[in-house]
Amino acid sequence: MDGAVCLVFRDKETGEQKRMIAYNDSRNAAEVMQIILHEFAHIIMRHTQQSVNGEVEATCFALTMMLFIIIERRFHLGQTIMKTAGKFFLLKEIKKELFPPAQETA
Ligand SMILES: [Zn+2]
Repeated sequence: MDGAVCLVFRDKETGEQKRMIAYNDSRNAAEVMQIILHEFAHIIMRHTQQSVNGEVEATCFALTMMLFIIIERRFHLGQTIMKTAGKFFLLKEIKKELFPPAQETA
């Protein structure tokens, strides 16, 4: 993303791989949000090299997340779901969708 980088480095003390998102602080709040979400997408999708497909994926992720924020602000959908279905139900369903249980092999 223009004006941002996602740095990958090793922690000198622990040797663990760390990532850091750096962006141009002169951007407005919406641009900063899009930049951070875009770079976050590269991290969670484990992109390791620049590619057109990777940029499209990260951009789509960022815009989708921003759309969810707009929907939440306007319609309070998340609050409604939390009040009607309950927090634990929602979290359980989200986790199941993101991390489905391993398929049993018969
Ligand atoms: Zn990118």
